[in-house]
Amino acid sequence: MKPPELDFELLSRYSVAGPRYTSYPTAPQFSNQFTGEDLLREIADADARPLSLYVHLPFCASVCFYCGCNVTFTADRSRSAAYVRTLLREVDLTREHLSAGREVAQLHWGGGTPTFFAPRELDELIGGIGERFRFAADAELGVEVDPRATTAEHLRVLGAAGFNRLSVGIQDFDADVQRAIHREQSAEQTLTVITEARRRGMRSVSVDLMYGLPRQSRDSFARTLDLTLTLNPDRLALFNFAYLPGMLRHQRAIKAAELPSPAVKLAIFQLAVERLSAAGYEYVGMDHFARADDDLCRAQREGKLSRNFQGYSTHADCDLLAFGVSAISSPGRVYAQNHKNINDYIAAIEGSRSAVARGIRLTDDDVLRREVIMRLMCDFELDTLAVGEKFKIDFFKYFAASCSALKPLVADGLLVVSGGKITVTPTGRFLIRNIAMCFDAYLKARRQRFSKTV
Ligand code: SF4
Repeated sequence: MKPPELDFELLSRYSVAGPRYTSYPTAPQFSNQFTGEDLLREIADADARPLSLYVHLPFCASVCFYCGCNVTFTADRSRSAAYVRTLLREVDLTREHLSAGREVAQLHWGGGTPTFFAPRELDELIGGIGERFRFAADAELGVEVDPRATTAEHLRVLGAAGFNRLSVGIQDFDADVQRAIHREQSAEQTLTVITEARRRGMRSVSVDLMYGLPRQSRDSFARTLDLTLTLNPDRLALFNFAYLPGMLRHQRAIKAAELPSPAVKLAIFQLAVERLSAAGYEYVGMDHFARADDDLCRAQREGKLSRNFQGYSTHADCDLLAFGVSAISSPGRVYAQNHKNINDYIAAIEGSRSAVARGIRLTDDDVLRREVIMRLMCDFELDTLAVGEKFKIDFFKYFAASCSALKPLVADGLLVVSGGKITVTPTGRFLIRNIAMCFDAYLKARRQRFSKTV
């Protein structure tokens, strides 16, 4: 499908601060009245849904100036071995509350830099998790890697443990951009890691690029895209750099004057969409592209795609249990986030206390709105009759305020409401956050806390 021509004036009008909806309600809604006991009660009450596990490995040896992750910067390599022991202790504290027979369908290691950990530490971690859970034979095991910190031995250990999905950080191949973001990573390093990972049996490789970084131009990013396509990734994430120097101190090292103008950013984005489409990638939604035969595209065609804190997922039927500093679990009707400060996290676990610092139990209205927002973000279409039937509501009456907020978006050609269906148009797909925001009951008071939608 030929991508739509993006209209700068239209996109500028919709460029407002908004959530990425990896959850609904979103994290600012979480309360510190929610405790670890609330999480354990939800886990114990749950039926035997399969599990998706997330493990946060927070250490990085050096700072990338654009970074928005929860990271602990350190040169002290001894910290990772102790952290593995803490993680396994946290797993034990949670696991004893799970009913027997719950199978793990998915495991993801994110960071930070998981390969900051020595290969033997990663081996100990996967061995420890493997002893504590039963994995499905076709479980998806994914890991994020930084090619600058990934050795052949790391990949051997990960491949032998059954990891089959690799997510590789690139952002930009241009040397000048790399200097401006303090992440110097050669194309050779990246290619070596991807080639070796494939040789070790990883069947899916995803790469991350970012636009809106300092010193980027349309031409420089065209070269980055060309090089990236030679790597033949199965999936590709194209993130919009969120410049939030007020909230993230290390971003102050980026000179605002070196950031591309909104017009250049849009030109880069348009170019990327065209190049990726021409190369056979489909736009899955919010920042994500994948080959038509990839599981993500297949799940989208079958209406089985979901969103969680790692982005899009093919495991909508799973309860997410997350371990490590700042990690967010979402089993059943709750979200529960661990301490964001690593010392608080370690102290809690070492004191045999829950690491949960805040969270939320969803109301019936939250569950309904979560379904509407997730279906729109994943399917680009909403069957209002089916939602009305499932939740026993008259959809258009219940969402009267949302539907009136949608009217200007309908007039701008972002979506069509007809025959009981809300259908997002090709242009509207790039503004899906703005559409979802019309169904968010909490938004008004807290927009300034989010990145721009485009
Ligand atoms: S390697 Fe990743 S997590 Fe670490 S500082 Fe860079 S962007 Fe952040």
